[in-house]
Amino acid sequence: MINMAIAPNLENYEQARATFKWEEAEKEFTWNKSGKCNIVYEAIDRKCEQGAANDIALYYSDGDRDEQYTYEKLQKLSNRFARGLKSLGVAKGDRVFIFLPRTPEYYVAMLGTIRIGAIAGPLFEAFMEKAVKDRLEDSEAKVLVTSPELLERVPLHELPELKRVIIVGADEVDEGKRQVAYQEIMRHDSTPIVEWLDKEDAMMIHYTSGSTGKPKGVLLSHYAMVHMYISGKWVYDLKPTDIYWCVADPGWITGTSAGMWAPWLNGTPVVMRGGRFNPEHWYETLAKHKVTVWFSAPTAFRMLMAAGTEIAKKYDLSNLRHILSAGEPLNPELIKWGMDTFGVPIYDNWWMTETGSSVIANFPALEIRPGSMGKPIPGIEVEIVNNIGTPMGTNELGNLAIKPPWPGLMKTIWNNPSKYADYFVNGWYISGDSAYKDEDGYYWFEGRIDDVINTMGERVGPFEVESKLVEHPAVAEAGVIGVPDPVRGEVVKAYITLRQGFHESDELKEDIMNFVRERLAAHARPRIIEVRNKLPKTRSGKIMRRVLKAKELNIPTGDVSTIDD
Ligand code: ATP
Ligand code: MG
Repeated sequence: MINMAIAPNLENYEQARATFKWEEAEKEFTWNKSGKCNIVYEAIDRKCEQGAANDIALYYSDGDRDEQYTYEKLQKLSNRFARGLKSLGVAKGDRVFIFLPRTPEYYVAMLGTIRIGAIAGPLFEAFMEKAVKDRLEDSEAKVLVTSPELLERVPLHELPELKRVIIVGADEVDEGKRQVAYQEIMRHDSTPIVEWLDKEDAMMIHYTSGSTGKPKGVLLSHYAMVHMYISGKWVYDLKPTDIYWCVADPGWITGTSAGMWAPWLNGTPVVMRGGRFNPEHWYETLAKHKVTVWFSAPTAFRMLMAAGTEIAKKYDLSNLRHILSAGEPLNPELIKWGMDTFGVPIYDNWWMTETGSSVIANFPALEIRPGSMGKPIPGIEVEIVNNIGTPMGTNELGNLAIKPPWPGLMKTIWNNPSKYADYFVNGWYISGDSAYKDEDGYYWFEGRIDDVINTMGERVGPFEVESKLVEHPAVAEAGVIGVPDPVRGEVVKAYITLRQGFHESDELKEDIMNFVRERLAAHARPRIIEVRNKLPKTRSGKIMRRVLKAKELNIPTGDVSTIDD
């Protein structure tokens, strides 16, 4: 499938940007000849047809289970599931939501759903009742796939549209309560079944993380596969000989776009680890499967860093080629820690649920600029624009914007077309993030537009201050906000958690404040520091600055359905 002729030489990045066209990448896919497509066919079935049927597509472990799945096995299981869904009356365009722990059945359900042209709605296992209900209601899901434990968080009586609930791992089910056993579904035969679709037909609904407000139901199409394929190839640099572990839960875009589609479209086997975050388990997983490419997020790296390097030293992690990070800004301190601990680089890449896949990246083929998101991937035009959508100059802060369309771009916000329309200004997709571009075309993240602090007429980006704070030996994590001040407009306030062995004191706070003043800027110095046991975060691990701010200002916190407990 991989035709190297279409892969521009990324070492000659500018040339690649000038010459690469998505139409070239499309030639890799079936619809180029037939006009019809299906991402499951491209990611799984076609691999089988091309001689990889017996290659491992998935390694799964969780402490109890330890399993391997070939492409052929995933193909057969998902055919069964697809036929089972059909027997329940599920048709093209129907929403099938998946609310399961991270297990192979999650993938089987995703593949089976999308195979028949239904729309998959992946949910994160840690969601509580309100979050589950909001999403099932908003999407008018027809079928839910869940487990006996998670079923307790599904308020069936409030969800009249939900016709059937498939239960994975139950000995008995209650048909009166619309339940069907997964075993029953899987009794259907495994002969091939694929719904041939137009490339713009819907594939998944992913709800956003809820960092800035109520989560939005982002609708992605099958066409996003081209983008995911190219990200896998260039940004994550995946080869069939790699073993790839993306730790993100499939309930978030990173867990599906970068966790399943990008690797499988590139013929790369993936590792899935069940259970909660635990440094020992994580390092053990890297060692056991001889992982070569590892994709995680800054919050996880900070937790691993806080847990101490000694733990990592106990494991053989010598197979790692490189590490990837997305979801939040990657503090330069983490890149240094990664190099010291693993001896390989951590490459940052920027994107959103709405963009479908990576947009800006520190490509393995480019020089890393620590603290920068990197450069746009070939085929995507990125710009910094002002509030009326006019491009700005080099080194000027403004809205990070993208020229539509590109293959991964969402089709709409489910049930909210006006919200979708709001993203576009003067022909640009406006991300909601603030950033600038340097002389060499690298993009630098400042913060969410709403989080940028204005003090004494100076802009202060929370990310820069947070990154400086975590360089201080006592600071494990930091969340920075602006609080109103009669003289300065706003002043910088930092919420921090301390590393093991450090205790709160006025002296320590003073020392931390001075550390930022001396190494960043006087106006960026936090004037108030509050030590916390933990910071409010989304369940995907993002610091919720708006919650800190709301508490500070004594105003309502807004939607907190995605907050971690
Ligand atoms: P919501 O849209 O519901 O408020 P969210 O924006 O956190 O939540 P996601 O789509 O999961 O939901 O996250 C996208 C956002 O994550 C980006 O807009 C950006 O702020 C942040 N982000 C992602 N990758 C990076 C990165 N590499 N560097 C800096 N920020 C990043
Ligand atoms: Mg967002």
